[in-house]
Amino acid sequence: MTQKLAVVTGAARGIGLATTKLFLRDGWTVAMVDRDAPELEDVAKDLDGVKAFACDVSQPEAVEQLFADVQKAFGRIDALVNNAGVADFGPIEETTFARWRTVMSTNLDGVFLMSQAAIPALKESRGAIVNIASISGLRASTLRVAYGTSKAAVMHMTKQQAAELGEYGIRANCVCPGPVRTKLAMAVHSPEIIAAYHDAIPLNRYGSEDEIGEVIVFLCSDKASFVTGQIVASDGGFESTGIGLP
Ligand code: NAD
Repeated sequence: MTQKLAVVTGAARGIGLATTKLFLRDGWTVAMVDRDAPELEDVAKDLDGVKAFACDVSQPEAVEQLFADVQKAFGRIDALVNNAGVADFGPIEETTFARWRTVMSTNLDGVFLMSQAAIPALKESRGAIVNIASISGLRASTLRVAYGTSKAAVMHMTKQQAAELGEYGIRANCVCPGPVRTKLAMAVHSPEIIAAYHDAIPLNRYGSEDEIGEVIVFLCSDKASFVTGQIVASDGGFESTGIGLP
């Protein structure tokens, strides 16, 4: 059987790195993409079955070059995981346009650019897209005007992708992680937010990177061959309750 190739963005650490390792466990090869070239090179050198590609997914020319390089290296793409993301928590009155654009350029523009560039190869493989949103896009809170809005938009883009690309056999799904103790989360989760999450989550804990990655890998696999257009939360039950957050 031909080995499948997954493109994973934000793969240098956190959920993207965990997802990369789970793909490898399941026999895939992985094109690891991140804008942090030194961190990416450092983790990729210890992994068999990967190739590292330094790229800022918010930059159109860089994304174009990335897909030329991935095609040259592998000649196929079976799955795209749009995981690269940044977080900036603040209310609307304190969020400058520059901060807004920083969040939107990676979290939204990046998903658009990467998905658009992947479509020709995904048509050939009848492949899959998994976009990583967040529970912050499912419910409003008092602090997440940019981050939450960007993630809500990613959910809608997923439904657009499923609707538009289904005729080519391409599936598109979205994973909404609950809180995971990564660098991104720990930079914006105050002690108050951490305590509130523990109370609001029925399982009363943060999740692990693997608990998100397993869902991503499943949705990319043939086991999910009739699943498309779905928003799947891996969040310890947060979305099923109405308990609020700051
Ligand atoms: P992380 O900070 O550990 O990893 C994010 C990676 O993305 C980093 O390696 C970073 O260099 C890379 N990146 C950021 N902007 C980029 C760009 N423009 N181009 C290329 N690479 C870029 O964060 P994480 O927690 O693993 O986050 C992964 C995804 O999960 C993000 O989309 C995030 O919004 C989402 N998420 C995380 C949590 C959480 O609690 N950790 C919760 C919900 C959603």
